[in-house]
Amino acid sequence: MLPATPEPRAIDRDLPLDLVVVGGGINGCGIARDAAGRGLSVLLVEQGDLASATSQWSTKLVHGGLRYLEHYEFRLVGEALRERDVLLSAAPHLIEPLQFVLPHEPHLRPRWMIRAGLFLYDHLGGRTSLPKSRSERLDAAGLGAGLKPDYRRGFSYFDARVDDARLTIANARAAADLGAVIAPRTRFVGAAAADGVWACEFEGAAGDGGRHRLRARAIVNAAGPWVARVQDAIGGAPADARVRHVKGSHIVVPRLHPGEHAYILQNPDQRIVFIIPYLGAFSLIGTTDVAVDDFAHPVISDEEIAYLCATASRYCARPVAPADVVWSYSGVRPLYDDGAGEAAAVTRDYVLRDSVVGGAALVSVYGGKLTTYRKLAEHALERLAPHFPAMGRRWTHAVPLPGGDFRGGLAALTADLKQAYPFLPQDHLAGMARRHGTVAFDWLDEARSLADLGEHFGAGLYAREVDHMVAQEWALAADDVLYRRSKSGLMMDDAARAALAGYMQARTT
Ligand SMILES: Cc1cc2nc3c(=O)[nH]c(=O)nc-3n(C[C@H](O)[C@H](O)[C@H](O)COP(=O)(O)OP(=O)(O)OC[C@H]3O[C@@H](n4cnc5c(N)ncnc54)[C@H](O)[C@@H]3O)c2cc1C
Repeated sequence: MLPATPEPRAIDRDLPLDLVVVGGGINGCGIARDAAGRGLSVLLVEQGDLASATSQWSTKLVHGGLRYLEHYEFRLVGEALRERDVLLSAAPHLIEPLQFVLPHEPHLRPRWMIRAGLFLYDHLGGRTSLPKSRSERLDAAGLGAGLKPDYRRGFSYFDARVDDARLTIANARAAADLGAVIAPRTRFVGAAAADGVWACEFEGAAGDGGRHRLRARAIVNAAGPWVARVQDAIGGAPADARVRHVKGSHIVVPRLHPGEHAYILQNPDQRIVFIIPYLGAFSLIGTTDVAVDDFAHPVISDEEIAYLCATASRYCARPVAPADVVWSYSGVRPLYDDGAGEAAAVTRDYVLRDSVVGGAALVSVYGGKLTTYRKLAEHALERLAPHFPAMGRRWTHAVPLPGGDFRGGLAALTADLKQAYPFLPQDHLAGMARRHGTVAFDWLDEARSLADLGEHFGAGLYAREVDHMVAQEWALAADDVLYRRSKSGLMMDDAARAALAGYMQARTT
């Protein structure tokens, strides 16, 4: 029998909380959800918006990571492949299967090596709902359209794509539904422990910029690139792990190839670059690996743009130039420093460090991937278990995320939405289904006409959906809606973005 979604637990503000989670990225939100469902009282603080750092700047894949096999990361790849299936059923609106095509270049990696890698990839994770890898004649299978005609042979395999920011917010929503307090725009300033309790200090809660204090029995430091900085602010915390900050950048250009598959391209420097169909009209190209010191404000460099354009141009029939770039973004991987020389070779696996200071528990998270966040959360809670003997057992493996409780794929959900709300324009339906899953029925509710959805800002974004994002998803500023809870900002002009900003300001002040 599947575990049921646990009942929410009310927080008694006179007692110390069980757990403070620092960081509203995928790892912090995943840990908050799991912990709240096990009956712990939880506060999650995020200094900016939820998913405003690394967790919105990924390649947007839920994948085993084919290339990590070359670095012998078998544990990570096996766990990630198993998680791929778990997450595909937990959030089928946010995570969809995606076919990858690898054009063959014999001088870069021989055929036997790729076949062996794909065989391992097919089997390391055990049983999967996704098709197995294949050798392909690209010209015959229609998988080479958009590539130079020289690329006739290749391989294909399946992974999945994800809406990274919305996956993060769905975890926060699930945590809040279970009684956790989610506090974006609240910075953890520091903590000191005595007699088994942390005295924590925060800044900015309630929008007044003031300082606030709260007691908790345990802290999880899931501050991503800031993990060492937060560790330094916790009195007595061991600074026992080092972080390597590695920037990865992506560019978005007008769509380069037809079809729904993505390309995985090999570069002569042994790195790989993806070209992924993105938001219908675009292609997403990434990523790079550049060691950086300034992890708080990563920006794509001209060299990275040139590198990504050159790689895509080596393969694509239509050359890609920097002038084609319509959007770009950079994120910083907070990687656990395993002493590797090259940035691309540093482990992508996560490491948890736990300690007890003044009798109070601290768990710190180093590294990780979106794909493995749920397992990471389970492991973090295992570390906390000795401090909370009454804590519940693992439960997230078979419980859908908010909106993910449907079967039959997005097409079936979109058809159900159309039946319930026949007035919704066809080209807006899929976006609403993708963003919200079955939760779309909640906020569409009694709407009977387009007029009931209020102002249309463009790209299928109506005031009624924005109101839902404000009320249920902690959206406060225009960018929270335009680029995280949706990607409508990419499809809107300046006037439409300004109209939304005006609406948000009136709505939230
Ligand atoms: C370029 C790139 C591509 C990637 N592609 C993939 C991919 O395709 N698939 C995949 O599985 N993984 C991918 N990853 C990895 C994945 O994105 C990260 O592992 C994951 O997002 C890290 O999440 P996090 O919660 O640890 O960190 P973050 O998302 O950075 O969250 C940490 C949060 O802590 C907050 N914080 C910091 N200090 C404080 C404080 N004092 N008080 C309050 N809050 C604070 C920050 O504001 C931040 O929001 C990629 C990473 C990068 C950079």
